Amino acid sequence: MSTSTSNSCPRCRGERTETQYQGKEAGQVIWSVLHCQQCSFSWRDSEPPESISPAKRDPFFNVNPEEVKRYPIVLPPMA
Ligand SMILES: [Zn+2]
Repeated sequence: MSTSTSNSCPRCRGERTETQYQGKEAGQVIWSVLHCQQCSFSWRDSEPPESISPAKRDPFFNVNPEEVKRYPIVLPPMA
């Protein structure tokens, strides 16, 4: 795993993201799974722009990390 500052989070625009996995073919990286340490969003860099491009994402689904406490817990943590 590596921490990257070049792949900002599509959901909260946070810069603290890490590469969790890379799919390789013939030794070449063809996609990566990234994770945001700020809002816990995970995404694959080969998803459509409507999902991962901040300019094309529906802002309704974005998260302001400064307001994270106001978001309800939809699924409680498993015991
Ligand atoms: Zn985020």
